[in-house]
Parts: sequence; structure tokens; C-alpha cells
Amino acid sequence: MAFETSSIHSCSTSPSFIDSGMYQCQLCKQTVPAKTKAYRIPVEIRPRKYPACPKANRVVRKDKTEYVDDPGGEGYEIVQEVFACPGCAAQFEHRMK
Ligand SMILES: [Zn+2]
Repeated sequence: MAFETSSIHSCSTSPSFIDSGMYQCQLCKQTVPAKTKAYRIPVEIRPRKYPACPKANRVVRKDKTEYVDDPGGEGYEIVQEVFACPGCAAQFEHRMK
């Protein structure tokens, strides 16, 4: 049974990486070669309370689409995000702890 969910907001703040071509690290300004993972670093986050949103989440099932309530809650929202190389991403994670 395959279905997927999508939400209008994300509570996740952990850096995620993107498979991309060549890019410039926005922290150390070095150009990173292609096939190197680019990390998205939330350089500025703020706490946020999410209100409950009825019917906020769309659940796509095989033959129909359903809307389910989002319970809301507390999380963080990303104010500003940069692309970083793995080295900078590791340093950033270190600083977060
Ligand atoms: Zn870097």
C-alpha cells in the first residue's frame, strides 16, 4: 500500500544534503567540485509554535486524496539557510551542540 504525506510546514532543522553539481560554499566561499554533497545549513532559526491546522496534511492514497488534521505543536522555523561544503557543515553541527 503506497501513500505519501505532505505537510505545509517542516519541523526538521537538521542539515540535509542535496546531490548537486558544482557550487560555492557560502560559509568558506570555496568552490566545491561536482559530486560533493551540498549541505543546507540553517544559519538562523527561531522557535515557533504551530497552531493546529485542520486538513493541513494531504495524504495521497492509491485511488483518493484525503486531508488529515495537523496537530500543530512547537518547532523551529528556518529564517536563513545557506549552502555549505561538508567541512563547514561538520563544523556547524559541532557548534550547535
Ligand atoms: Zn565551506
